[in-house]
Amino acid sequence: ALLDDDGLRHVLAATTDHRAFYDALGAVPFEDGRDPSSVLARKAYLRADREPWGPHLRDALSATQKLLRVVGAFARTDPKSLLGRSAAVDLHTVGGPVHPDESLTCGTCAWRHDSSRSVGRSRCRKHPGVRIDASMRACVRWEAVFDCQDCGACCREAYTAVEVKRTEPVVTRYPDLVVREGKYLHLRRAGERCAALEGGRTPAEQYTCRIYDDRPSTCREFALASPNCLDARRAVGLSR
Ligand code: SF4
Ligand code: SF4
Repeated sequence: ALLDDDGLRHVLAATTDHRAFYDALGAVPFEDGRDPSSVLARKAYLRADREPWGPHLRDALSATQKLLRVVGAFARTDPKSLLGRSAAVDLHTVGGPVHPDESLTCGTCAWRHDSSRSVGRSRCRKHPGVRIDASMRACVRWEAVFDCQDCGACCREAYTAVEVKRTEPVVTRYPDLVVREGKYLHLRRAGERCAALEGGRTPAEQYTCRIYDDRPSTCREFALASPNCLDARRAVGLSR
């Protein structure tokens, strides 16, 4: 997936015993959903994007892509050439390859949002500096619209504390859930999860919040498909 972002998947393929596994991966290597191996792979992908090595890795891959476009143009017509196959990959406006499913568009992606600056224009949460259009063919990082009950990321290990204001109903209605540390109040944790979060113990089971109607403002203000939502989903390996 890291190589896919720059259209380098074929030319920088894994070798030795790992090659068969690599070649067997689908067109979009991270499957959607909460499959445990996909979750682990997305977490590794997130780490590869972090300091100190992330920026250098991205620069190196981007430079390799530019080189490949020049060199690979000479081999485009040779079906056996890895260089040619990589150079033939169509790139999206955002830089990476287009999605293999031609029917998908940015308009159906969970991360497209209306530009706050220009009416009728779109932006992408995953590529904040780039203008996109809802009618564009999707890139390889397309994701179907999801809902919080399949995710729960912000209520589990993506964050470690949920602050509570003293005046919020949860303080009196659910005192067992509120931890006091001096003047600071926060919701109790159950391992890596908020103690009010239920479900999600198997990939098929949905998450629910048992105090949903009385949840603190910290939770109410957390918006679906916002930048924080993307960070949270990346942290738990649900988005890349
Ligand atoms: S992540 Fe989604 S909205 Fe962004 S460019 Fe890719 S398909 Fe379009
Ligand atoms: S707001 Fe985003 S991170 Fe939180 S549960 Fe909903 S989809 Fe997941």
